[in-house]
Amino acid sequence: MRDVLGANEMADDHCKGGMSSHSGLPLDISVAFPQATPASIFPPSSSDYYQFDDLLSPEERSIRKKVRDVMEKEVAPIMAEYWEKAEFPFHVVPKLATLSIAGGTIKGYGCPGLSITGSAIATAEIARVDASFSTFFLVHSSLAMLTIALCGSEAQKQKYLPSLAKLQSIACWALTEPDYGSDASALKTTATKVSGGWVINGQKRWIGNSTFADILVVFARNTSTNQINGFILKKGTPGLRVTKIENKIGLRIVQNGDIIMEKVFVPDEDRLPEVNSFQDTNKVLAVSRVMVAWQPIGLAMGVFDLCHRYLKERKQFGAPLAAFQLNQEKLVRMLGNVQAMFLVGWRLCKLYESGKMTAGHASLGKAWISLRARETVSLGRELLGGNGILGDFLVAKAFCDLEPIYTFEGTYDINSMVTAREITGIASFKPAAAGRLSRL
Ligand SMILES: Cc1cc2nc3c(=O)[nH]c(=O)nc-3n(C[C@H](O)[C@H](O)[C@H](O)COP(=O)(O)OP(=O)(O)OC[C@H]3O[C@@H](n4cnc5c(N)ncnc54)[C@H](O)[C@@H]3O)c2cc1C
Repeated sequence: MRDVLGANEMADDHCKGGMSSHSGLPLDISVAFPQATPASIFPPSSSDYYQFDDLLSPEERSIRKKVRDVMEKEVAPIMAEYWEKAEFPFHVVPKLATLSIAGGTIKGYGCPGLSITGSAIATAEIARVDASFSTFFLVHSSLAMLTIALCGSEAQKQKYLPSLAKLQSIACWALTEPDYGSDASALKTTATKVSGGWVINGQKRWIGNSTFADILVVFARNTSTNQINGFILKKGTPGLRVTKIENKIGLRIVQNGDIIMEKVFVPDEDRLPEVNSFQDTNKVLAVSRVMVAWQPIGLAMGVFDLCHRYLKERKQFGAPLAAFQLNQEKLVRMLGNVQAMFLVGWRLCKLYESGKMTAGHASLGKAWISLRARETVSLGRELLGGNGILGDFLVAKAFCDLEPIYTFEGTYDINSMVTAREITGIASFKPAAAGRLSRL
């Protein structure tokens, strides 16, 4: 009898949205913790302390506003749920498409031709609400689309870029392999010339968007020249297999995949003519590292905004958390980090625009900004106490999302060494012991 009653109660609770503990479902967070607003209702922006809006053109300010609006309205309410499920919310893509920002700085072919600062500020505004979304977007726009724009033939640009710009087709960018991560220039996937095209054999790992991408930009070693070449593969090509990487602790909305290529035929027309060595991928990476550097800037802005609101709402010992000196110092340290990160990111864009940016500049920006972001999210996590480990309040999610950002597009260490090579003239990627180890 009790069992039957229990079952009825459960069904009833479920209909009411699972608000009772009988249902076994968690309470709605605003019922469980009424004192603080969850991140699904995103806090107003409060991190622009030094009024950086003044540094932006009217067009860049308007991009910032329209991206912020869409992210706060469309993505903030669903991000914790999709992050938890590790699923990608495909229904949001058309909303993102209305912003006309995919393709960033690329001119023509249906792309928006934004300034690099405009593109960067759009990236930051996406990451402010959700870093997985900004990663999805960067892989598609700043890696795959940019590679086609910088290294593709005229026919390839006309064929692929317009639908990628409208987000009607989605792309991924596959460089990393299971055995070659930081050491990507040593990659082993092969491309062998055959009549009418190329045959690709090999494996890729960690490739964002790859589980559903229509177009896969893949790098492989030409078996005749031993140099790296680039190819455009299409979803469903025989011999191409993609499997989702499960159990990630960060960027859980991003669908990262393992790719296995067994005798994948790529017609001549889909080889990227301007990728003739690993150096050519660096042309793309230099720009995309500027964009990647803006992810931790946006992410830190969002964490600051959330903490700023939370500390004023939550009370302990009869006072808001914002009234305690220790909490104030942490909040101010976070704010200071955001100001400095923004200035470094902005200066990088200006160096790029004036043609003065070096690979070392971009790497220092990515490395240093992600280091400061790591401190910022860690302070934020502390400030939220127990709620600092819950996805609903954003900070825990951002804390976890920052870790892969710290590691991808060159880890902190690798980017530091790129800058160090530029300022010392000495490359330190290969340890002195490498020669001896290979003889063992
Ligand atoms: C969420 C996510 C998304 C990604 N998306 C993509 C994608 O879309 N496309 C793509 O091609 N790749 C992607 N990557 C791969 C990413 O670029 C690599 O993870 C990254 O380059 C590091 O390689 P690794 O993981 O093999 O680490 P490793 O190279 O094994 O490095 C492990 C550690 O050793 C350190 N290390 C390595 N070499 C040196 C050295 N010479 N000196 C000092 N320290 C060193 C590193 O700094 C790091 O701390 C993604 C990764 C993640 C986690």
